[in-house]
Amino acid sequence: MKGESVEVTNRFVTQDEVKSRLAELEERIAAACQRSNRKREDVKIIAVTKYIDVPAIGEVLQAGLTHIGENRVQDALPKYEAYTDQAIWHFIGHLQTNKVKEVIGKFTYIHSLDRMSLAEEINRRAQAMGLIVPCFLQINISGEETKFGLDPNDVLAFVQEISNMKHISIKGLMTMAPIVDNVEDTRPVFRGLRQWQERLQALGLPNITVEELSMGMSGDFEIAIEEGATFVRLGSVLVRPS
Ligand SMILES: *Cc1c(COP(=O)(O)O)cnc(C)c1O
Repeated sequence: MKGESVEVTNRFVTQDEVKSRLAELEERIAAACQRSNRKREDVKIIAVTKYIDVPAIGEVLQAGLTHIGENRVQDALPKYEAYTDQAIWHFIGHLQTNKVKEVIGKFTYIHSLDRMSLAEEINRRAQAMGLIVPCFLQINISGEETKFGLDPNDVLAFVQEISNMKHISIKGLMTMAPIVDNVEDTRPVFRGLRQWQERLQALGLPNITVEELSMGMSGDFEIAIEEGATFVRLGSVLVRPS
């Protein structure tokens, strides 16, 4: 599965390294915004820090990044504990139902809501804590069998049910594009997510505002921005030790 096998021995980056990579990325992001007539401030960067250890998160924050994304609960918690109030925390990986209690109230956003059992558990825990949890519906647009995410055929029924859950707010949609030889081939996936956003917004369901699109990673973020991404999730290009 994409993003799971991470083999990095040096798990530290300096603030200067992150800053110089960020400067390069800013140019590419600005160019993608310009090509698609979008405003730079409508695209937010989530620094995906799964490649680095706790002390390096401080470097990332000092480089000026505020959104931090992690995909594994065990790795994420020590990072969250060390820098709790200094970042906005995004849980972006597959979330096991029995781990919901460790994430809720800590991670502001959950990007990987992809099944009813998970929604029920989030809603139940959030209710007990008096919270409303902003979630992204993960949709498997590409239909790749190895990927998590809702089957597009199930999305409509899913949101109808979710809209009755008072402690979940569907803030956006998330997808992962397949790894392809020609990055241009990811475009239909991102465009497909954007079309789902329009369809769902037209329904006008309570708690389903879907104003955000979480799409685009190191290899394909420019295409995702051109197709409407509001959150790009950048790991390798931004923080992975070289
Ligand atoms: C690892 C990961 C990313 C970032 O991947 P890069 O290609 O290193 O930028 C984004 N989203 C998810 C869900 C991930 O697991």
